[in-house]
Amino acid sequence: MSAKIIDGKEISAKVRGEVKEAVAEMKAKHGYTPGLATVLVGDNTASATYVRAKHKACEEVGVRSIGRVLGEDISQEELQQVVQELNDDPEVDGILVQLPLPKHIDEEAILGTIDLGKDVDGFHPLNIGRLSMKGRKPLFIPCTPYGCMRLLDEAGVDLNGAEAVVVGRSNIVGLPMAFLLNNANATVTIVHSRTKDMDAHLKRADVIIAAVGISEMIKGNQIKPGAVIIDVGINRKDDETRKRGYRLVGDVDYDDCLPVAGAITPVPGGVGPMTIAMLMKNTLHAAERKF
Ligand code: NDP
Repeated sequence: MSAKIIDGKEISAKVRGEVKEAVAEMKAKHGYTPGLATVLVGDNTASATYVRAKHKACEEVGVRSIGRVLGEDISQEELQQVVQELNDDPEVDGILVQLPLPKHIDEEAILGTIDLGKDVDGFHPLNIGRLSMKGRKPLFIPCTPYGCMRLLDEAGVDLNGAEAVVVGRSNIVGLPMAFLLNNANATVTIVHSRTKDMDAHLKRADVIIAAVGISEMIKGNQIKPGAVIIDVGINRKDDETRKRGYRLVGDVDYDDCLPVAGAITPVPGGVGPMTIAMLMKNTLHAAERKF
């Protein structure tokens, strides 16, 4: 038996298509185009690549994008001022401060400065707080976990009462993911670097979300036959057959898990493309609140 492959490329294209249609409708009905502002500090190549990809996605779905590129040596006060200007700009619906920020910047203070109604990354402490509380709704769901939930939904996974194990507890993936699964009535376990017997938890999981950052850590013999696996990890693995000398792999050993799992996301082409698609969705949600 081979697992069903959950195709993030196809599903993210569907999400972007939905956003494009809704944006066109908003333009026709209200004469308004949603706007996303990105803030890039310093010259981190990976961050610049991510920001470029976000602008490209904006263009594809018809969202206006505003890019602020700032020097590495910007002060806390100056950066806070930039965020404040974007907060005050009525044509900016979403603000995305690309992480990581330089070491001298207090990241939490910057994220806390973003207007709650424009926090399309969903990292504002109040958004996360609401996500964690019963009966409360956040204004925005953090994009990567939001994308994972959409993948599970598209794959027809019934989370009601399912045993879900989230590997990793970061603020941007693991923790919000666990809250979302809990809200969807799964029984959730979070495992992390201090967990004593990870295998025991993995073995009984109907759904595994891997967000660790260790290449191909989870093997086929660690999972339950038929388990659904969402692999968030993006890691470089040396590969001399590739021109750039490496290839991207997940936190799950894909080839090893494929014959055991019920469904699985590939890397690349799984969770990765969903993150930006959900950012577009969040930007649309922000603009929709205007009307
Ligand atoms: P972090 O480094 O912030 O968190 C990693 C988590 O994994 C921590 O909670 C850590 O535990 C846990 N961990 C570390 N080692 C082990 C271990 N041996 N066993 C169990 N748990 C362990 O990473 P992120 O959450 O930011 O990212 C995780 C992965 O997802 C990375 O590969 C990243 O590149 C990728 N990613 C992909 C995105 C996408 O769009 N597809 C978006 C964001 C991230 P502890 O808390 O105890 O230290």
